[in-house]
Amino acid sequence: MRTLCSMRTFREAPVMIRLAIFKSGILSKLDYGSVVYDSKWHGDQVEIDNGNHHNTKEMFSILQNVHERCPEITYIYDLPLKSVQERPLRVIVFSDNPTEHEPLEPEFKYIGNMHGNEVVGRELLLNLAEYLCNEYKFNNNENIKKLVDNTRIHLMPSMNPDGWEIAAANAWNTTGQQNFPDIKTMLKEEGTTDWTAGRANANGIDLNRNFPNLDEVIYEYNHLANHRNNHLNIETFIALTTGSDCHDNPYQIETVTVAFWIMQSSFVLSANLHNGDLVANYPYDDSELHVKTYSPSPDDPLFQQLAESYSYSHSKMAKSAKPCATDLFQDGITNGANWYPVCGGMQDFNYLASNCFELTLELGCRKFPPGKHLAGLWDDNKDALINFMWQTHLGIKGLINDEDNEPIYNATIKVFQLVNGHWKYIDHDVTSAKNGDYWRLLTDGSYAILVKKSGYETSIKYVDVQNGKDVEAQRVDFTLNSQMSNKRSHIQALLKRLMKKNY
Ligand SMILES: [Zn+2]
Repeated sequence: MRTLCSMRTFREAPVMIRLAIFKSGILSKLDYGSVVYDSKWHGDQVEIDNGNHHNTKEMFSILQNVHERCPEITYIYDLPLKSVQERPLRVIVFSDNPTEHEPLEPEFKYIGNMHGNEVVGRELLLNLAEYLCNEYKFNNNENIKKLVDNTRIHLMPSMNPDGWEIAAANAWNTTGQQNFPDIKTMLKEEGTTDWTAGRANANGIDLNRNFPNLDEVIYEYNHLANHRNNHLNIETFIALTTGSDCHDNPYQIETVTVAFWIMQSSFVLSANLHNGDLVANYPYDDSELHVKTYSPSPDDPLFQQLAESYSYSHSKMAKSAKPCATDLFQDGITNGANWYPVCGGMQDFNYLASNCFELTLELGCRKFPPGKHLAGLWDDNKDALINFMWQTHLGIKGLINDEDNEPIYNATIKVFQLVNGHWKYIDHDVTSAKNGDYWRLLTDGSYAILVKKSGYETSIKYVDVQNGKDVEAQRVDFTLNSQMSNKRSHIQALLKRLMKKNY
């Protein structure tokens, strides 16, 4: 398995073979984490143990326990490729029908611990998994039931499990063993204090600088009329095939696996959880000249609103202008490049390679705080984590079908907003998914929605969006008529309709 998994072999293989390997799932057959977790039960519910940090095996045991307590609404899967040290990149899904996508039900994801020594997100997602299970099944929480029934929620507590283990081992080997009886106690009482050990993956590469640099592509495209503004797939494939990121590092197995996951799923909204400051960061993370400056995406007002939906629901984030006594933020939010430019980040990759809108959430000044602080951190973040998931339901959603009620996949949804009496194009289209379903996150306002697909006549609808709290998006369906390019296809279409009629 080692040779097949090794980055070199994987990277040297032609891209289609790599995709076949990826799709086959053969790299995920290694067993990992089949351990007995000594969790305590409180009645039927999972008792949340948030005074301790959890290593990889404990993390997987918690997910397994949650699944066993709530099998009807959960499903666990691994991404096809494992980390460099062959730890699974494991996901738990919550929904009323967790194993598959349901038409019109939006997909959401949280990814924690991408930087291995930034661990609060990892523990919060374990808490969140236990909380969703308890509230849905045992505490009859109507809001959570509605959220879970109408959203498909993917939680990946750790994208960099190797980095976590490296951070913990480094702390133990340097100072921990002189001061504590065991690693668990060290992590509970002190956490780790090294700012960089375990940040990168096991090959020493920073995963949040290792995604294909699509910002570069979009900045180039922005100079062209009628440029492409979404799903930069071909560019992504080319980038991954040619082999190195914008820092000249080889693409890592964790990055490749997550990149394909993003591109193959129909995620609508996402957050990527980090530590080191306390702020909600939104696109773009880079600017055209790679300098520190405000770098708005076409969805800038929406991204600001999304970031505030987290910062204002968090008990501290929006309240302190200088939360870590270093950088200054207003309302607990920041544009990425206005803070500091990052190239090869995951957040902008989501926006430019898929339909997914992603934020980067910095969840505290300490990267690996003492485990005994985790209960307080959960209290600070709980409402914000829930509220942010509800944002998946902003704006509009609907079905795009042809005249025969067949779904149209990969139709383009273009949005124009009425601003001061003029229609302003939001230069970022989304596309319809396999079932012809689409989602378009929008702020309150008046919009013209234009749906296009080659071979069909373009359709346009006007909608007023008034987002409510904790409710599903407004439904706006489209039927596209096929284009009659000549008399023959016209007659064929008439015949097709006649044959469908019952006399
Ligand atoms: Zn980070």
